[in-house]
Amino acid sequence: MKKHIIIVGGGFAGLNLIKSLKNDKRFLITLVDKNNYHFFPPLIYQVATSFIQASNISYPFRRLFSRYKNVNFHMGSLLRVDPENNVLETDTGNLRYDYLVLALGTESNFFEMENVQKCALPMKNIQEALYLRNHILLNLEQAARNKDIKMAERLQNIVIAGGGPTGVELAGMLAEMGKYIAQKEYPEIKLSLSNLYLIDALPTLLSPMSTMAQKTSYKTLTELGVKILLNVSVKDYTDNKVFLSDGTVIETETLIWTSGVIGREVPGIPKEKIGKGRRILVDEYNRVEEHTYIYALGDIALQLTDKLFPNGHPQLAQAAIQQAKNLGKNLIRLQEGKELIPFTYNDKGSMAIISKFNAVVDLPGFSFKGFLAWLTWLFIHIIPLVGFRSKIRLSLDWFRLFITNNPSIRLILYPKKNTTKP
Ligand SMILES: Cc1cc2nc3c(=O)[nH]c(=O)nc-3n(C[C@H](O)[C@H](O)[C@H](O)COP(=O)(O)OP(=O)(O)OC[C@H]3O[C@@H](n4cnc5c(N)ncnc54)[C@H](O)[C@@H]3O)c2cc1C
Repeated sequence: MKKHIIIVGGGFAGLNLIKSLKNDKRFLITLVDKNNYHFFPPLIYQVATSFIQASNISYPFRRLFSRYKNVNFHMGSLLRVDPENNVLETDTGNLRYDYLVLALGTESNFFEMENVQKCALPMKNIQEALYLRNHILLNLEQAARNKDIKMAERLQNIVIAGGGPTGVELAGMLAEMGKYIAQKEYPEIKLSLSNLYLIDALPTLLSPMSTMAQKTSYKTLTELGVKILLNVSVKDYTDNKVFLSDGTVIETETLIWTSGVIGREVPGIPKEKIGKGRRILVDEYNRVEEHTYIYALGDIALQLTDKLFPNGHPQLAQAAIQQAKNLGKNLIRLQEGKELIPFTYNDKGSMAIISKFNAVVDLPGFSFKGFLAWLTWLFIHIIPLVGFRSKIRLSLDWFRLFITNNPSIRLILYPKKNTTKP
């Protein structure tokens, strides 16, 4: 009898677990995902800034699985888990499992600020990145037509809340967009009226990284004209005004939210199994509860058993990938009656690109910056892309874009049904 493994979420964790078990005749695997494609979050900000196409960093699941003999795809969104009956309920039907793996990742955390949740622009997935792209381009068009100085502020100011790697990378790219593109292609816009703010509640940018990375990002972004406000947080966002904790008010139609994440809700998992950041508590084998055959992996999992990471692992791609590979081995060992291997995280470091030809890289015990770091960043971000063609296409696009400074995909596209017959 084949064991039916249902994996919810085809991100880094889900996909790497599938790769560990693909073509193993002892398992039948069903991936459940609300999208029909895998995507690569670290490059989403380049989609939002019209630098690359969404298709450069996304790959259809069915195309990938056509090469695997034991993997099916079920498009649907998780509604509830019924651990008593080993059933997963989705909005497109119910499925029975022998093992259930929850790898749904996280969603934006607005810290219970209703207005911010309603009006700010998050950037966690492809849809949000495309929405943000349209928003930025539409605002530029409106700014080009606008004659009112007060309105110019609102249209041309951009506030990014969150000075982690995503906020820093986005700020660098938007600043360069202003320098290389807006100046040339939007001559009607008075750029002296534009302000790009990067805000963080902590005393530094890139707080999880080295002091070198923090100082370099601050200096480079300041030189690019980014106004960095530290030790302040967003308190409210109404009537196109961002209210900060120090009393500052910034007029803007564009508050980009890169400020934090929270685990996705999984109804059916007992309350006592939900830990800090709404992450699901798991043991050293990523099991939620021994007898229920439910596992959690990646960003949504909170594992407090790894001695070097007593507060849980960082919510990074590497943690998700390594946990998935370990669970893959353990599911095989379980079939063979062998002892399970506890998970330990191998920290491979972190990096962020700050501007063209300039990045910061922290490796265990060693940090560097500048052009070499930038090349390292490019190389490291090409490798995990799914599909050989995607890797080649992105490399070629990047090569052309870094030479020309001008991507030509700044198209405002609204998907809409055409109601007039041709
Ligand atoms: C903008 C951004 C930039 C980042 N940059 C970096 C970086 O440079 N380096 C790094 O290491 N990490 C980075 N991260 C973090 C990294 O992307 C995550 O740690 C990693 O994606 C976690 O993998 P995961 O498989 O747990 O979840 P995810 O990759 O988030 O995958 C979750 C999957 O679940 C699916 N899903 C969600 N809800 C449902 C539902 N209800 N039903 C069915 N399916 C569902 C989603 O469609 C998705 O396919 C970044 C994240 C973001 C958002």
